[in-house]
Amino acid sequence: MLRNWSIALLVLAIVLAAGCGGGEGDEVVNRWIAPRWTDQGCEDRYEEPLTTAEDMAGRAEAYARVDITPDLSVLDATQKQVLDELVAAGSIMDDLFRVQATPCYDALARAVADHRGEDRAALQRYFAINMGPWDRRMHHEPFIGDQERPEGANFYPTDMTRADRDKIASGEADLDGLFTMVRRDADGDLVAVPYSDFFGPGLAQAATHLRNAAELTENESLRAFLEARATAFETDDYYESDMLWMDLDSVVEVTIGPYEVYEDGLFGYKAAFEAFVTVTDPEQSAQLASYKDELPWLEANLPLPDEDKNLDRGAESPIRVVDLVYSGGDTRAGIQTIAFNLPNDERVREAKGSKKVLLRNVMNAKFEQILAPIAQVVIADDQVDLVNAESFFMHTLWHEMSHGLGPGKLVIDGRETEVRLELKDTYSTIEEVKADVMGMWDILKLDAAGRDYFAAGIDRKQPVTFLAGMFRSVRFGINEAHGQANAIQFNYLLDKGAIAHDPETGRFHVNFDRFLPAIELLLNEILVMQAEADYAAAEAMIATYAHMPDVLADALAKLDAIPVDIQPQFGHYPDM
Ligand SMILES: [Zn+2]
Repeated sequence: MLRNWSIALLVLAIVLAAGCGGGEGDEVVNRWIAPRWTDQGCEDRYEEPLTTAEDMAGRAEAYARVDITPDLSVLDATQKQVLDELVAAGSIMDDLFRVQATPCYDALARAVADHRGEDRAALQRYFAINMGPWDRRMHHEPFIGDQERPEGANFYPTDMTRADRDKIASGEADLDGLFTMVRRDADGDLVAVPYSDFFGPGLAQAATHLRNAAELTENESLRAFLEARATAFETDDYYESDMLWMDLDSVVEVTIGPYEVYEDGLFGYKAAFEAFVTVTDPEQSAQLASYKDELPWLEANLPLPDEDKNLDRGAESPIRVVDLVYSGGDTRAGIQTIAFNLPNDERVREAKGSKKVLLRNVMNAKFEQILAPIAQVVIADDQVDLVNAESFFMHTLWHEMSHGLGPGKLVIDGRETEVRLELKDTYSTIEEVKADVMGMWDILKLDAAGRDYFAAGIDRKQPVTFLAGMFRSVRFGINEAHGQANAIQFNYLLDKGAIAHDPETGRFHVNFDRFLPAIELLLNEILVMQAEADYAAAEAMIATYAHMPDVLADALAKLDAIPVDIQPQFGHYPDM
């Protein structure tokens, strides 16, 4: 009797689930959107059964599953509760990003969940990695169906005319706002919808989690940030909380909100949601913080006319070395971030500099799984031993420091503006070239000036590790800002003879005497371009250098067996 009763319950549960057309998975992301702004006409967007790319298994296997489960034994019970609330808020950012990235996300996710083809498991895994149907490492080509990715992702209507684009670019009515979605009103006119309205339900829930964490934490700087950030979710004014984020001094930390503009490939105007929940390593951070004293010296020595130097930028540039516990949203899609530099708000950067956060456990995972094996294949025999984890870490560190150097706010013909706004869609790529090249320049310049921060032989170890690292980066595809930036550097350095290819072995090496001069030349070009807000020059550099030369393509073809990237498995929060 009891047994029949449970079977009846089970049947009832199945019927109920089926009755809602797929069950609770239905509104995974739509539940966070204000009902009047959810995407319309989604049912017809993808035909069923889904047509999928042929090599789904191969694509998915390019990402090595890596366990990201840092030691949390140093945390007390309260800190662990705080961590739970922060991860809950972070997982909402993950959902909001899916909305921003992919029109009709829920309808598509449902179709993927219902997919019954042989490639089912690989498809589902790859859809999760890319957070949508476009392959982030293959020029955003569709691996589901045949619809091209809208350049502006889901930030803008998908049916825009030339006139619509011009109107957005004109900045009318906040259409170019960092924290607005662009949609059509009842008359078909473009309107800017503030994130706090568009994502109202999601941001309210995220704010609740942040306030819960604020109540729990015993750390004053974290409490102040969380309260201000919760308010920012409701007001779209992130300034105060960005300032407070700079002052965080807590073992458990979070970076959460709308930040980077890479996902908006149309204009680079719109900030994408993301979250990093981390635990800090205070010892490492203190050691690295000593580097910040060098920033004024570096700025003063940049290969740039003095009048374009940014000498009064905020002096405080904290550095954190942390272990990642959870990430969500923009940063979790496709290629995994090993370091970031925030906030992007130039007002905060002028006042306080910017904070560099290095994700040590992610970086170590990538060096071991990817960079070391790549070097064994592509670097000349007599240089391969120079590739080392410390240099990989150092370049990443100085890359992040370099985002805070050079031109930021500008005055052009009396008009106040920013490099980001003037370089528009080229900005992300150009800024990444700047940070990569300047990061290398910083280290070699400090070493040449006799500073004793670095290991012996850094002047050789650093360039060769950098060279190996470029192969790792261009494997991401040269469509996205970081990959494109690496292709530019690779081709430029090849042009100048700073790196060279041996046709006999197919391997590459560094010409040490030409390396620093070439780096300095490229850095000068980029900095002048930014200082003069020279959009045409930025476009020209991308057109000239952001391509894949045959020697590079041939070398990459030999790396097939090596994972392209990692897919983190967050052991402490496996379901989020
Ligand atoms: Zn960067």
